[in-house]
Amino acid sequence: MFRQTTAVLRKLRYRSFNGQQHSWKPKSTAAAERAVQYQPGQKIHGFTVREVAAVPDLFLTAVKLTHDKTGAQYLHAARDDSNNLFSVQFRTTPMDSTGVPHILEHTVLCGSEKYPCRDPFFKMLNRSLSTFMNAFTASDYTMYPFLTQNGKDFQNLLSVYLDAVFFPCLREQDFRQEGWRLENENPTDPNTPLVFKGVVFNEMKGAFSDNERVYAQHLQNKLYPDHTYSVVSGGEPLAIPDLTWEQLRQFHATHYHPSNARFFTYGDLPLEQHLQQIEEEALSKFERINPNTEVPSQPHWSSPREDHVTCSPDALAPDPSRQNTLCVSYLLGDITDTFEGFTLSLLSSLMISGPNSPFYKALIEPKIGTDFSSVVGYDGSTKEASFSIGLQGMAEEDTERVKQIISQTIDAIIENGFEEERIEALLHKIEIQMKHQSTNFGLSLASYIASSWNHDGDPVELLQINESVAQFRQALKENPRFLQDKVKHYFKENTHRLTLSMSPDEAYIEKQAEAEEEKLQKKIQALSDGDRKEIYEKGLELLDAQSKTQDASCLPALKVSDIEPTIPITPVQISAAGGVPVQYCEQPTNGLVYFRAMCSLNTLPEELRLYVPLFCSVVTKMGCGALDYKQQAQQIELRTGGMSVSTQVIPDSTQLDVYEQGVLLSSSCLDRNLPHMFHLWSDIFNSPHFDDEERLRVLVMMSAQELANGISYSGHMYAMTRAGRHLTPAGDLQETFAGMEQVKFMKRIAEMSDLSQVIRTLPRIKKHLLNPDNMRCAVNTSPQKMSDAAAQLESFMKEVAENRKERKPVRTHIIERPLDPLDQSGPSRKLISELNFHPCQMKTFFQMPFPVNFVSESIRTVPFSHEDYASLCILARMMTAKFLHGEIREKGGAYGGGARMGGGLFSFYSYRDPNSAQTLSAFRKGVDWAKSGQFTQQDIDEAKLSVFSAVDSPVAPADKGMGRFLSGVTDEMKQNHRERLFAVTHKDLVGVAERYLGVGQRTCGVAILGPENETIKKDPSWIVK
Ligand SMILES: [Zn+2]
Repeated sequence: MFRQTTAVLRKLRYRSFNGQQHSWKPKSTAAAERAVQYQPGQKIHGFTVREVAAVPDLFLTAVKLTHDKTGAQYLHAARDDSNNLFSVQFRTTPMDSTGVPHILEHTVLCGSEKYPCRDPFFKMLNRSLSTFMNAFTASDYTMYPFLTQNGKDFQNLLSVYLDAVFFPCLREQDFRQEGWRLENENPTDPNTPLVFKGVVFNEMKGAFSDNERVYAQHLQNKLYPDHTYSVVSGGEPLAIPDLTWEQLRQFHATHYHPSNARFFTYGDLPLEQHLQQIEEEALSKFERINPNTEVPSQPHWSSPREDHVTCSPDALAPDPSRQNTLCVSYLLGDITDTFEGFTLSLLSSLMISGPNSPFYKALIEPKIGTDFSSVVGYDGSTKEASFSIGLQGMAEEDTERVKQIISQTIDAIIENGFEEERIEALLHKIEIQMKHQSTNFGLSLASYIASSWNHDGDPVELLQINESVAQFRQALKENPRFLQDKVKHYFKENTHRLTLSMSPDEAYIEKQAEAEEEKLQKKIQALSDGDRKEIYEKGLELLDAQSKTQDASCLPALKVSDIEPTIPITPVQISAAGGVPVQYCEQPTNGLVYFRAMCSLNTLPEELRLYVPLFCSVVTKMGCGALDYKQQAQQIELRTGGMSVSTQVIPDSTQLDVYEQGVLLSSSCLDRNLPHMFHLWSDIFNSPHFDDEERLRVLVMMSAQELANGISYSGHMYAMTRAGRHLTPAGDLQETFAGMEQVKFMKRIAEMSDLSQVIRTLPRIKKHLLNPDNMRCAVNTSPQKMSDAAAQLESFMKEVAENRKERKPVRTHIIERPLDPLDQSGPSRKLISELNFHPCQMKTFFQMPFPVNFVSESIRTVPFSHEDYASLCILARMMTAKFLHGEIREKGGAYGGGARMGGGLFSFYSYRDPNSAQTLSAFRKGVDWAKSGQFTQQDIDEAKLSVFSAVDSPVAPADKGMGRFLSGVTDEMKQNHRERLFAVTHKDLVGVAERYLGVGQRTCGVAILGPENETIKKDPSWIVK
C-alpha cells in the first residue's frame, strides 16, 4: 500500500534487477555520454565531483559528488531512461521501539514551511504525473523516492519533497493523527470510552498480525541485540504510546540533516539542474553537523544462542498441528565489503535456491515443514549481513531433527562443494537480470545501493556487477575450494548464530488485547479531569480540521494540458506458425526473447476449474521428457530467464457477461538459447511428469502456505474479489482462481493424505489446456532476432503438433473476436457469453485471526468500451482523493482506503482498518457526496492527472503489445478511452454517480475479512464463513 515499511522493502530488495518493466530507448546514449564529461574535482552548484565511472553493462554513467558546506553525499546515474528518479535517504537509527523514525516518516509528509497545507504528499498524487511516489522506513534508514517522466513535474515534486524532509511543520496535531493519541471512541461524545487511535499505531497492529513479519522482527532483534537492530524501527504497537511529540521533533533535528543525507538521482534529465535546485531550496540553508548516527559492529558471541517466541494460530494453515517455525541465523561480514557481499549472496543462492540446492534436498524434500522459514538466505539490509535457514509449518517434535539436518548439511557442503553447472546457471541468471529492462529500473537501483551506501559503502562499486563476476571467477580458479572455505568460516566455525523457534499460542490475540487494555488503563488512570477535558477538545479539533475543505493552492501542479493528447502506437504483426496465430512485436529487448502463449480453457470440464491454479503452479516444476524435476529446474536456470504459467480471466471490453478464460505461458531467454527454451516447452507439452506424489506434495504444501501467508498482506484484494463474485461471470471465475475459495480449496488439498486423485486430474487438465488448437502466441524481441525466433517457433509447433485436437467447448454460447480488428475473417479469440447470468446481492464475512478488517463493496457498472466508463474511472479516483481518504484513513484510522474501477465493477475498499460498519457507511456517504456535486473543476482536473499518470505509466519492451494480445484492446480503443477521459465533465460525474452508484440502481456485493464481529454475526443478511 501507500507507505511501506521494512518487510515490504525487503521483498523489493530481493526483486532488485528483477523488475518487470522498463521504458528503454536503445539508439541514443546521450545522457550517459554527456555525464562522462564531468571531471573529478569539478565544482557544480556547491557540490564537488568526486568520481565519474562508466558502467557499460547497465548502460549508465555514475557521478559521485559531495556537498561542500554540509557534507551531503550525492550519486547520479545518467541513463537514457525517461522515467527519472529522485530519492533522499537519511540514516535513522532509533534506540527504542516507539516507532519514532516511522512516525516521523509519516508526519514530515503532513505539511511544510513552503507548503503548509495538510498532507501535501497525498495531494501531489493528484497534481502530478508521477509514476511512483512513496516513503519507506527500513531498520536503519528512511527513504523518500519518486519517479516521473515529465521534467516540469520532476521540479515540482523535488520542491515538495525537499521542503517536506528539511522544513516540515511537525504540528502536534499531525503527530496525534499519524502517530498515536488517546481519544473518545466517538470523538463527539465525551461519555464514550477513551481508546488509542493513530495511523501508525493501527498500521503496526496490522503489520504484526502477519506471523511472518512477527518472526522476521524477532529474529533481527535477537541476532543483533546490542544496538539499533534490537528495536522495532516501525514501532512496537504497545511502545508507540510512549513517544512524545517533543521526542519526535528532536529526532528530526538530529537525523533529517544534510550532513546525514544521501541523494540519488537517475535518468535522462540533466544533473546540473537537480544540483542547483537542491542547493538553492535546501542545502544552502544548513551548516555541517556531526550527526553521530554510525552503527557500531555487533560484538561477536563466543557461543551460539537459542530463543523461543509465540504467535497467533493460523486458521488457514494447511495442518493445524504443524505450525511451528524454526531457523538458524548466522551473523556474516560487513555489507560495505562489496565483493564479500556479492560472494555470500551467490553462495546463499547455491545453498538454498531450487530443487538442486543442498538445503532444498535436505529440508524441503523430506516434507518436515511446508516451506522454508519466512526469513531465509542472505540478508544484506543490516550493517553486518546475515544468513538464515530453517522451516515453517513443522511439528514441534521435529525441532531436534531440523537442527541436526542443518548442521549435517553444512558439513556436507564443506565436504562436497557445488557442481560447476549450478554455478554457471547462477552467473547466467545474473547476466539475464542485467539485460532485462524493467520500467522501474531507477527504483531498483535506489533500493539495491541503499543499505551499503547507508553505512558508507561505495555505491559505484556496487553497480559494477560485472567486475564482481570476474573477480568471483578468478577466485574460484585460484582456489577450487573458495566457496567451501567460506562455508566453513561463516557457518561451521561461526559462534554468532541464533536458533529461534516460534510456536502458536491459542491465547496469543487475547494476551495482546489484554496487554493493550492494561497499557490503556495505565494511561487513563494518570489523567486528571482537566486532561480528559483537553483530550475531548483536541479530538473535536482534529475532527474539525479533518472535515474542513482544504486549500491546496500553495502546491505546484501540472495542468491537464501538460498531458500528451495522443498515445504512441505500438506496431504488431499478426501471422501464424504451424496453424497457430502469432503476434510479433519488435522491441529493443537487449538480446532477450520474450515468448508467451495463451491457451483457452473453453473445453475444460467445469468441475476441473478449481484445479487450474494448482496445475499452473506445478506444470513447469515436476519434470518433463527425459528430465526429472531437478534436471528440469537446472535447465530452466541455465537456459532461460524463467518459465511460468498463470491463470487469466479477461472481461470483454464491450459486454459485461462475456469473458475469455485461459492460462498464459510465459518465458524469456538470451537469443542464443532459443532452441533450448522451446525444447523445454515441447517436453512440457508432450511428456510432462505428473505422477511423482512426493514431489507434488512438496509443491502443494508450498502453494497452500504461500496463499495462507498472503492474506494479511493482500486482504483488500481478497475482499474485493469476493465482493465481485456474484456480479459478473468473470468475477465469479476470478474468485474461483484467486479468491478465498481458492485459498480454502488449496488448504483442503494440502490436508489430503492421498493425492492420487489430484494426480489423475492433472493430465486431464493438460489435455485441454496444452492444445495448439486453442492457442495463440506472442513474441517480443529485437528486429534482428525476429526471423530466427519465428523459425524456432515454427519448429516448436511441429514438435507439439500431436497435442492438437479439436474439442468441443463446454459452454454453448461462444463469441469470436478477431485478433486483428481490421481482419474480420482472420484468427480470433473465443469468448464465453453467459446470457442468462443474473447478478445478485451478497454480503460475506470471513472471520480471520487478525485484529484489523479489510472491507470491500463492489457495484456492477459498465464495460470498458461504454461511454460512461471513463467518467467512472475519474469518479473513483476523485472520490478516493477528495472524500474516502479523509473518512477512512484520517478519521477512521485505517492504513488506506478508496475506490477503483476495473473489469466492469466499481469497487470500494479499505486496508488494515479498525472499523467495519463505519467504513461501509463511509462508502455510502461517498456516493452521496458524489451525487451532491460538491466538488470543483480543480478536483476533477486533479483526478484526471492522477488517472493519466497510471494510464501513461511506462511499459517495458517485454510487455509492449500485451494488452492487445491478451484482451484485444487496440491502440485505437485506448486512444478513444483517452479522449473520453479528457472530456469528462462535472455533469458527467454527477450523472454516473446517480445512474450507477445510487441505492436502488445498483447491484452490489459486500465482503469483509476481519476479527470476530458480534454485530455481523447477529445480522441475518450476512453470510459468515
Ligand atoms: Zn507507515
